Amino acid sequence: MDWIEELRQERKNKRIGREILFFSEIDSTNSKAREEALRGAKEGTIIIADAQTRGRGRLGRPWESPPGMNLYASMILRPAIPLADAAAMPLLTGIAVAKGLGRSTGAAAGIKWPNDILVGGKKIAGILAEAEAAGERVRFIIMGVGVNVNVGADEMPSSLKETATSLRIVTGRELSRARVAAAVFEEMEEVYALFEEKGFAGRLRNEWNRLSVVNGKWATLSTLKESWAGKVLGIDEDGALLFQDEQGRTRRFIAGDVSLRY
Ligand code: ADP
Repeated sequence: MDWIEELRQERKNKRIGREILFFSEIDSTNSKAREEALRGAKEGTIIIADAQTRGRGRLGRPWESPPGMNLYASMILRPAIPLADAAAMPLLTGIAVAKGLGRSTGAAAGIKWPNDILVGGKKIAGILAEAEAAGERVRFIIMGVGVNVNVGADEMPSSLKETATSLRIVTGRELSRARVAAAVFEEMEEVYALFEEKGFAGRLRNEWNRLSVVNGKWATLSTLKESWAGKVLGIDEDGALLFQDEQGRTRRFIAGDVSLRY
């Protein structure tokens, strides 16, 4: 596909996207990336598909992945970090996606913890991290990114009409997948280098909090076991969400879903 060639040219001397494997249809780019990583694919290799037949979000939830219009990409990363630090990876990828969409289209993209990318309160992109450990260390991490680029409002499944949007819907024009992808990967290259050099706690944490659309908002925080009403405070140095419950106690969450209470 032409846009893939354009993207390859754009990323050819870079780290993220040095090699791009393209499939016109695949079950899931994350699954394929995992296979390639197990076979020894180099860090920075990216799997892209024009369509996914079983695109996934977190907890096995499906990611709608029609052909010919959107971006479905999974990056293979091999950070030399302890497994405990891997929790920051989806957060820094959220920063890269939000900034990349903004940079390539002007869309005001924000992050809803942990890593939904929203424009105007609607989901425009999702991130799925899957890590493989070797003892206490990370062997590789697959960072999957799905971006609704050119899907039109009338093409969205009815179950997503209220909650999802696309770059085309918010900007009113058809966008180049190559340009959007190149911007996301370039931002990823920058935040990943910063993470390796300085960790998540400083500048990246601040950037995340700046891009967050939930900080300071009243929300319901649900884990698999329970849910809490309260106010979102932001994320701490380890990337956990700080949440003040209705009794005024601060609670800390490493996983869960936030829904805003308007
Ligand atoms: P992530 O946090 O990685 O976005 P989710 O589990 O929240 O993962 O994503 C899956 C959910 O997102 C689905 O249950 C569905 O509600 C919604 N969804 C599925 N496909 C799309 C899409 N193309 N655009 C926006 N939202 C979608």
